[in-house]
Amino acid sequence: MITEVLTANQLKKEAPVFGQLSFDNHEQVVFCQDKDTGLKAIIGVHNTILGPALGGTRMYDYASEWDALNDVLRLSRGMTYKAAITGLNLGGGKAVIIGDPKKIKTPELMTRFGKFVHTLGGKYYTAEDVGMETSDMDTVREVTPYVTGISEAKGGAGNPSPVTAYGVYMGMKAATKFAYGNDALAGKRILVQGIGHVGEELVRLAAEEDAKVIIADINEERLQEVSKKYGAEIYRGEDLYAETADIYAPCALGATVNDDTINKLKVKVIAGAANNQLANENIHGPLLQKKGIVYAPDFLINAGGIINVYAEIEGYGREEIKSKTENIYNTTLDILNKSKAMNITANASAMSIAEDRIAVRKKEQL
Ligand code: NAD
Repeated sequence: MITEVLTANQLKKEAPVFGQLSFDNHEQVVFCQDKDTGLKAIIGVHNTILGPALGGTRMYDYASEWDALNDVLRLSRGMTYKAAITGLNLGGGKAVIIGDPKKIKTPELMTRFGKFVHTLGGKYYTAEDVGMETSDMDTVREVTPYVTGISEAKGGAGNPSPVTAYGVYMGMKAATKFAYGNDALAGKRILVQGIGHVGEELVRLAAEEDAKVIIADINEERLQEVSKKYGAEIYRGEDLYAETADIYAPCALGATVNDDTINKLKVKVIAGAANNQLANENIHGPLLQKKGIVYAPDFLINAGGIINVYAEIEGYGREEIKSKTENIYNTTLDILNKSKAMNITANASAMSIAEDRIAVRKKEQL
């Protein structure tokens, strides 16, 4: 296979799309540009066997277009696994818009983006992700029905982040039970990295259970605010990854479990909201297992948000959203037990269950 013989740099030059390491049989990748509004976006449709591809739009000031492409490919693939393991009839997709949302995001740009989404005719449904607000999805809704995460006032299920946090909390408790024999978070030292929409709610839930929550963020104002609200300690050390604690909850950006950090980690459990926490699932998953660190797969425990937005398509209500999200506890515990029995990583175990579900559906469709 081409990806095994070329270095990453060679790949960039010689096999720019199909040869990218993050390219994993994606069905379709759409590049969208509009000079008038400054829009540059990429929509990745990874897999639509279980249903239309659903995944949020991330707006970020990427260092290069390569980084943006790599991000959308990794994220859209992750969405396929997330929907499949959660039992939803959805495929995996994601979009990125290149640029600093504070500088270039305008209603005109979001409208133009919505029109591009519309051209896919329902193969891809968008939603909010980093750099997006519910109001942006409302703008997109003006030009296409293929959008979720719109405001309750406009008939949507509203901000998915509190539901995501609740699912992460459920996954964290299941992983704690697996690691410690009971799922109580009281007294546990929990490092929450990133206290944005999801992180803050996770801090609230953990603090309510009398956990010792330590928070880290690059935004000092948020740190002060969240610390005051929930009595959380602000991390002022040099290196969060080297901190001794029970649980590390990555709730900022992905790939924080990598070659640099893996040897420093002194926690018993990793359970957080960020997508793609393992820089390389084939390397860092087994290394965590070897170190005896229990890893709750991100795409499994951060599925609350997709459960919430899926409600807009399927038309189910609050109670069902809650019970489906609560079920993340059972699925996580099952997967951790299964991976132990089979001596494989929890990530690999969750991925194989998701792949089996897709394979069965594919067979039915033949
Ligand atoms: P957000 O943008 O509201 O919050 C991210 C927070 O991380 C911000 O406070 C930011 O200042 C902080 N941050 C950024 N870089 C940091 C760093 N290097 N160190 C410490 N803090 C840093 O995003 P969110 O909606 O809370 O999502 C958090 C993560 O969870 C993202 O990776 C997102 O993709 C993932 N996720 C979110 C949802 C959802 O429903 N919002 C669903 C699934 C996955």
